[in-house]
Amino acid sequence: MFNLIIFGPPGSGKGTQSDLLIQNFGLIHISTGDLLRDEVEQQTLLGIEAKKFMDQGQLVPDEVVIGMIGSLLDNRPKVKGIIFDGFPRTEAQAKALDKLLSLKTTEIHKVLYLIVPEEELENRLIQRGKESGRSDDNKEVILKRIVEYNCKTKSVADYYESQRKLTKVKGTGSIAEIFATIKSVIHPYVKAI
Ligand code: AMP
Repeated sequence: MFNLIIFGPPGSGKGTQSDLLIQNFGLIHISTGDLLRDEVEQQTLLGIEAKKFMDQGQLVPDEVVIGMIGSLLDNRPKVKGIIFDGFPRTEAQAKALDKLLSLKTTEIHKVLYLIVPEEELENRLIQRGKESGRSDDNKEVILKRIVEYNCKTKSVADYYESQRKLTKVKGTGSIAEIFATIKSVIHPYVKAI
């Protein structure tokens, strides 16, 4: 099994590059943002609670997302590998993920850190908001999400750096150029389909 985290600030291209990884490497994709938006849409209790945080650009509490990932991993048959997108976002989540994966006798093999200047993030997210209609892609919430990332999430990179699993990837340029770099990083670990 090959388990990868695609890491970076909101708007760094994690979702776009995950789609290419799915197509090219046949990995399973787990995005906590997508899972939470599904819960919101279905108006589950979890979704109703989570929405309050999401609309404010704040992180949903750790126990909620960790619980979600835990039950997902329990219900998943053996797969070639998993891409974690938007998770972990705090050191507590990173530690919980390590524990959950070790119960499955596996681990995180690589963390790809997409590096994009802050100004470009804002522009990309404002543009995405016009196309996707995502309620948290408006300027006020975007700025809050970037602050939340800088305060709580950015340091998760150090956690994986200390485990020598982190690779920084330039997240600007064309989608194809960025993906070419990503492919070269993960080729030693997993074969293309
Ligand atoms: P995303 O689609 O990854 O940008 O996530 C959208 C929103 O969902 C975030 O702004 C958070 O409110 C929430 N969210 C997604 N993933 C997490 C996570 N791992 N921990 C806490 N909150 C999360």
